[in-house]
Amino acid sequence: MLTFYWAFGGYTSISEGLEVSAEKSANREWKLVGGELCLDFANTADWHASDSPHEQLRTYEDLVDWAIHSGILDKASGEQLLLEAARHPSAARGVLKRAVTLRESLYRIFVAAVAAQTPDAANLNILNEELARALRRLRLTCDCSRWAWDWKEDDRALDSMLWPVVRSAADVLTSHKHAKVGQCADDRGCGWLFLDLSKNRSRRWCAMEDCGNRAKVLRHYRLARSPSFKRKV
Ligand SMILES: [Zn+2]
Repeated sequence: MLTFYWAFGGYTSISEGLEVSAEKSANREWKLVGGELCLDFANTADWHASDSPHEQLRTYEDLVDWAIHSGILDKASGEQLLLEAARHPSAARGVLKRAVTLRESLYRIFVAAVAAQTPDAANLNILNEELARALRRLRLTCDCSRWAWDWKEDDRALDSMLWPVVRSAADVLTSHKHAKVGQCADDRGCGWLFLDLSKNRSRRWCAMEDCGNRAKVLRHYRLARSPSFKRKV
């Protein structure tokens, strides 16, 4: 996939206010902890709740790479899109910009959902615009015994990975799941979102082995340094 990387102008940041990490795109390890496609997409910026979020969708290739990793695209379809993007770099940059704008809108809509607040109208408008684009590609299929929703195949549609994302967002927001969206409680501003399926909505961390483990170590450290703990020893 790196063959076509030159076409997109290197590690160009297209998102305002987000820091671009020096980490090489190809080495990115995507973590899918959201439990829903739309939440995983919202988590494509690190430290999202901090003052300095880190952008992870820096190139169109990043977007395709994430889509393959999350199961939206198979590798062959991803490579086909990269070929198409190499032929139309300006259009690919446009899709990347739309993707980041959508991602930021989704993030803010779901953060509002976590706080049981009404989302900002501008963010909802952006989601609805992308939803209208995506739904035009939706169709019914039937294999004689089973009807299903499917996407109209188009190897040249550079934004095809966004269609399932916006449909996932619409499904979560219009179902009981919207009340189960949670946000990592990490005090550094991880901010990642997830579907909390625990009893009594007790999940606090994006991942126990990540922010959860750090909080656990910190808690033990503080406990060990407290005067009451020392008296017991
Ligand atoms: Zn976290």
